[in-house]
Amino acid sequence: MPVSERADHYAVIGNPVAHSKSPLIHGEFSRQTGQDMLYEAILAPIDGFAAAVADFTRRGGKGLNVTVPFKLEAFGIATPTARAEAAQAVNTLMLEGDTILGDNTDGAGLVRDITANLGFTLAGKRVLLIGAGGAARGVIMPLLEREPRILVIANRTQERAYGLQQRFASFGNILAIDYTDLHREQFDLVINATSASLNGELPPLPAGIFAGESLAYDIMYGSGHTPFLQFAKMQGAARLADGIGMLVEQAAESFFVWRGIRPGTASVIEMFRYHA
Ligand code: NDP
Repeated sequence: MPVSERADHYAVIGNPVAHSKSPLIHGEFSRQTGQDMLYEAILAPIDGFAAAVADFTRRGGKGLNVTVPFKLEAFGIATPTARAEAAQAVNTLMLEGDTILGDNTDGAGLVRDITANLGFTLAGKRVLLIGAGGAARGVIMPLLEREPRILVIANRTQERAYGLQQRFASFGNILAIDYTDLHREQFDLVINATSASLNGELPPLPAGIFAGESLAYDIMYGSGHTPFLQFAKMQGAARLADGIGMLVEQAAESFFVWRGIRPGTASVIEMFRYHA
């Protein structure tokens, strides 16, 4: 269906934003579901996020995806949902007149990719989450809701991991430990939620952490295996996954929040794999 003049207007906002795959993903979703939507990319000045949101709202914009570096600022200007509150960050804005609602769909996207797409059951499993930045914060609550046996967090700056353990302790079995203590443990799922892969680096993981039949998941995506996935393969992880599925699933969750319709994701994930 072609986009009409009365199409509802959405966008991704960031700086930089030209690399964002969101316009392509949401274009596919709206085509697939027959929704009359226009989706663009907005480059906001580093010191001009709130003004850019206000301008988009004035022009009749209905919703925004928020990307680097504005997720914290978006949290500051929005009324957060429970999952945005848990993450202390917002990646989805719903613009309703004077009201700005802020949601965070990253964690739901990750869990959906792991469970629905990869067929991995989290309940009762030993899960290691590496990293304690914005992405890690956003996935802890949705992971704990699936009741793993334990969720262990390790981070380069140890205090940040201990801070997350304290914050989420009442929601499930969560434990922060140092990288140096990981050699005593084995995990069914290891999630790399650090930005180390962006610089071609590997977090200081010891050998022997992957249990039999384990899944190694790097939330970073791009062409080829990241250093973490190469390490996991050498260490005998049974399955490897990158963050493309999470990217598409968090977008689908935003689409659902905005339009009340859940788009199919398999063909979009496939499209990225084919072009990666
Ligand atoms: P942040 O900057 O908030 O956090 C970065 C984290 O990585 C920190 O815990 C940091 O540790 C750690 N880190 C960085 N370099 C290293 C290293 N060399 N060794 C060990 N740890 C390191 O980033 P985000 O949490 O926002 O993003 C993390 C990654 O997640 C990015 O690659 C991003 O692209 C990806 N992402 C993917 C999504 C998807 O849909 N697939 C969605 C959102 C994010 P320290 O605390 O010590 O600094």
